[in-house]
Order: sequence, then structure tokens, then C-alpha cells
Amino acid sequence: MNSTNQFLKPLTAKINSSGNLEIGGCDTVELAENFGTPLYVVDEKTLRTICKDYKNAFSSYKNVKMMYASKALCTMSVARILSDEGFGFDTVSSGEIYTVYKAGVDMLTVLFNGNNKSPEELNLALELGVGRISVDNFFELSLLDEIAKAHNKTVDILLRITPGIECHTHEYIQTGHLDSKFGFDLTQIDEAVEFILNDYKNLNLTGLHAHIGSQIFETSVYRDEIEILVKEIARIDEKFNLKLSEINIGGGLGVKYTENDCPPSTFEIAEIILNKLNECTEKYNIEPPVLILEPGRSVISTSGVTLYTIGSSKQVPKGKKYVAVDGGMADNARPSMYGAEYTAKIANKFDDAPVEEVTIGGRFCESGDILIKNIKLPEIEEGDILCVFNTGAYNYSMASNYNRVPKPAMVLVKNGQADIIIKRETLDDIIAQDEIPERLKK
Ligand SMILES: *Cc1c(COP(=O)(O)O)cnc(C)c1O
Repeated sequence: MNSTNQFLKPLTAKINSSGNLEIGGCDTVELAENFGTPLYVVDEKTLRTICKDYKNAFSSYKNVKMMYASKALCTMSVARILSDEGFGFDTVSSGEIYTVYKAGVDMLTVLFNGNNKSPEELNLALELGVGRISVDNFFELSLLDEIAKAHNKTVDILLRITPGIECHTHEYIQTGHLDSKFGFDLTQIDEAVEFILNDYKNLNLTGLHAHIGSQIFETSVYRDEIEILVKEIARIDEKFNLKLSEINIGGGLGVKYTENDCPPSTFEIAEIILNKLNECTEKYNIEPPVLILEPGRSVISTSGVTLYTIGSSKQVPKGKKYVAVDGGMADNARPSMYGAEYTAKIANKFDDAPVEEVTIGGRFCESGDILIKNIKLPEIEEGDILCVFNTGAYNYSMASNYNRVPKPAMVLVKNGQADIIIKRETLDDIIAQDEIPERLKK
């Protein structure tokens, strides 16, 4: 069975009677007219469908917790939809914790992650009653214990470990290999457990956590990861007589950015993960643990597209044709940061045959601000609306105000209705935090 992360476009994408691309029952050319561009569009049906794909895929295991990795896209409306679909939240900052809290999420379903959480952030997490904290290093163990004591609380924690698994993804999004900035090395686990059992009385260790990387296509890495986590749990039980009841295997399932990408489905990975988990719990003779998953990209990416308006174009004599859009690296940093590839269509010429190969450049002052290299499109004219697919994850969440350009708006579409879920920034938003000291005012 397929799952939504295996599609390039949102489920509701189709050509309408005007020959335009329609998403969520809304004509994308009209969306661009009504809300301006660049515009992030999120298709609610696609988002809810992948949530159901995840839940159905893992339904045979009795104790699974899905925790959406909010860093992929964290807005209050997205938090509401995911919470409604039964997901908890993996958060990495006070900003994300505050967003889901304000959205009305049950804070017990929230996990706080990160390799350098500040005392202020840990305090906020405890104040708002975050359910789990994944502790990354020795410094944080002692800091968190101190803060928990001050709050007169015992905090449930996981230990983030580095399982030493290489996966074939971009170096910057690999996290599980041995020389990583994240987590305890396997050889440091015992020392951490001893500290928790003997010294840190306000910490309650409930399980182990690992995350091996992102945009993962090879399913075998999950097998290796589970083997290591279960083996460690059995070893800790034997050595310390401590029964850990949770394993968190992180996120990482890939999505289809271009026709060349063939990510596995949620159903494929579920079968591999659950078979391996059952095999390992028997082999190492432990109680089946609660299984926590933290998918981010695969949950939100496909439901998002970005609409841009085509502006200037330039033919380099005997070279490429560049076409510029009204956004770029500030609303989608991934091409310039990781060399990430995307697919696009002209929304108002959705079915026209491609006639030319062009390179889509952004409007920001960096030569590296190129969104898509060498893409074949129908004849492009100024004013056309370009739709870039699969921009739901790590686009808005990494957006900046580079060049002092206001961040785009985001609309949620469903059954022909479009609602703003993030307002477009204004020029006054751009200067809102600026101050002029008195001595410069004369
Ligand atoms: C980023 C991250 C995730 C989500 O990764 P995706 O590739 O977006 O699924 C999950 N867990 C942790 C700890 C992460 O850092």
C-alpha cells in the first residue's frame, strides 16, 4: 500500500476547468491573486491522510506513540490538526513548546529534545508540564536534575544515544553516526545510568532515544537501530536491575521531492520496524516496550507547496536561461544549504507541454540563491505562477528575513476553502524589533 510521503504532489492536486492547478479545491492562481506571493499552501487532506497512514501502519503494535517532529513545520494550526489526529510532539526549543502549548495541546504528549537546552528552556518545559525530556549529555543531566529539584518535581527522561549507524543521506542531516554532536556514545550509557540512579534523584529514566538521520530511503538502518536499542535495554536491566519501558527510534522517513526519489511507505517501514522489534524483544527477553516515533518531514512535506510569481528572466549568451521568482533562499533554504532538489509546475499552464529548460533563481542577493536547476517547463512569461511541490517541511521553519524581506503567508486549504494560518509579514514587522538609541536620534 502507498502512503502520502511517496507522492510528489498533494493528494488533491489536479487540473481544474480553467486549466489551472487546483489544490484542496482551491484554484492556486486565485490563491496567488487573493493572498499574494510567495505563498505557502498546506493541504489539510494530505496532512490528515499521512497521519492516518502512520497510525494504520503501526496499529498491530499495542503501544505506539507518534510524536510529530515540530521542527519540520510548527504553527498553532498545524499543532491542532496533528493533536486532533492523535499525535504528540517532539519539540526542540521554548518557541516550539510555547507554540504547541498555546495551541491547546496536552503537554504530557510533548517531548523536549536538543543538544544544548538552556536553563530558561528547561524551566519553561517543567513549568508547562512537558511529558518527557530527552537528555543529550552529562552536562544536561546535572543541570536538569538541579532545575527539577527547584521545581520539586521528578522528571521522566529518555537518554539520547548515538547508535553508530551511518545512513546514506546528506552529511548535514546524518545524526546517528559515531562522531556526532548529538547524544551519549554507547560507551557512556552506563556512567549516565549510574549518575541517574545514585545522584540525580529528581530524574526518572524511562527509556532510550535515538534518531539516525533524515530523508532516509534504506529501511535496513531501522533494523540496526532497533537491535542496538533493545540490546542496550536488556543490558541495562541485567546490570542495574532497571526496567526501561520506552524506545524512541526518532524520525527520518524520506519523501519524494523529484521523480527520481522513491521513498518507502509508512506501511513498509512499519512492517520492518515491528518485525524487528518483536524479534529483538524475544531474542533479548524483555517486555515489549512502548515504541515512540518522531516523524517530521514525511508527515508535513507533501501537504505543502509554495506559489511564486515569475518576474525577470535572463538568457546568458550561449549559456543558461535564468528565470527569477519573487522568493527564494529566505523562504526555502534547502537548495542553497544542502543542494536539495525540487519539482515545479506552472500553475496557470498546468497541462502545457514543456518547451524550454530553465534555471529558477530566487530574488535574494546571493549567487547561490537558485531554487531549481535545469527544469523543463512550458514557455514562461512574467506574471506566471510557479508552484514548487513538497515544501511543507523545513521551508517556513527555516525561513529568514534575509535582505529584510517579509516572510510569506501560509494558507490551509480544504474543500475549496482557504484560511490564513500564518499572516504575511509587513514592513512594520520587519522593523518591529529595531531600536534607535537616543544619541543617534539628534
Ligand atoms: C529532526 C528530528 C526528527 C525528525 O526528522 P524527520 O527527518 O523530519 O522525520 C526526529 N527526531 C529527532 C531527534 C530529530 O532531531
